[in-house]
Amino acid sequence: MLHALAKGFFHVAAHSHALKGIASRYGMATPRSFARRFIAGEDIDEALAACRVIQAQGMLVTLDHLGEGVTGLAAAEAATHDCLQLMERIPPSGVDRNISVKLTQLGLDVDRGIVVDNVRRILEAAKRLDFFVRIDMESFAHVQPTLDVFDTIWQQEYRNAGVVLQSALRRSESDLDHLIARRAYVRLVKGAYRESRAVAYSKKADVDRAFARMLRRLLLEGNYPAIATHDPAMIAEAKRVAVDHRVAPDRFEFQMLYGIRRDIQAALVAEGHRLRVYVPYGREWFPYFMRRLGERPANALFVARSLIAER
Ligand SMILES: Cc1cc2nc3c(=O)[nH]c(=O)nc-3n(C[C@H](O)[C@H](O)[C@H](O)COP(=O)(O)OP(=O)(O)OC[C@H]3O[C@@H](n4cnc5c(N)ncnc54)[C@H](O)[C@@H]3O)c2cc1C
Repeated sequence: MLHALAKGFFHVAAHSHALKGIASRYGMATPRSFARRFIAGEDIDEALAACRVIQAQGMLVTLDHLGEGVTGLAAAEAATHDCLQLMERIPPSGVDRNISVKLTQLGLDVDRGIVVDNVRRILEAAKRLDFFVRIDMESFAHVQPTLDVFDTIWQQEYRNAGVVLQSALRRSESDLDHLIARRAYVRLVKGAYRESRAVAYSKKADVDRAFARMLRRLLLEGNYPAIATHDPAMIAEAKRVAVDHRVAPDRFEFQMLYGIRRDIQAALVAEGHRLRVYVPYGREWFPYFMRRLGERPANALFVARSLIAER
């Protein structure tokens, strides 16, 4: 209940221009500013430097150039161009060739044809440069369109891409059937968006139970799944299923977000598991940042304290 309320509150706050103004002014201003806990930097150089530090600890990375919900063709084109440029910058830096993209950043809300074209341009570059491209999952209204785009590119034989399912959504277990049948690469998450009871479980225990069922299916029947959570109970469950069914540690990976539960990240690597850190960067960090506050309201206290100290 508290969980849903917090998500709701920060969802509304994410649309506040006043808050965005304050956050943009102070959030990344100095090396110790509050948003830096979750955002690797505002430009590519800062992000690549952060990735190198993470990789030096034996972890893998996926880079996300933040941005979402673009409403015009020019902005979708600019985001696609930025993504292509990012892909050219990564190989010489020694950072993993793995990026995450959001389809609303590439024009999903503007024109379905354009978004498929933009994704295809990115996947062509990915083929040439040997990248893996993860298509993030967004709010419920975008789930079917995102899966449709993914299906289109999968049918066109692009195999260097994967998608995401959210255990919070009631539909996800049947989406999983379809993706497993296709041998598609799936990242499993709980879901970061505020959704209605009609389409999503409202109790955390139900979201967790669905996550546990889905991770089991992915580990036993999936194709190199990514188990993306910071929840120690879910991580323990994944390890248990893997041990009981002899799923080798190189047949799946754990994933976590930059700056969250670094203790568990290090412990998993020490145990010999693959762990990929999702590294977001860019100037459009406010909506991503607000979702992180919504997941754990105690983060807001940390932000408030930093703001008071900085002013
Ligand atoms: C690699 C990765 C990619 C993701 N991609 C997507 C996506 O494409 N679409 C999508 O909807 N969601 C995505 N998410 C977010 C996900 O849906 C959850 O909102 C988020 O991971 C929190 O859920 P949890 O599984 O960690 O479990 P929870 O039960 O929410 O949290 C478990 C524990 O993790 C810690 N924790 C969790 N969140 C935070 C936080 N913000 N700050 C500090 N501690 C925290 C706390 O210790 C908490 O007790 C992604 C998450 C990861 C790790």
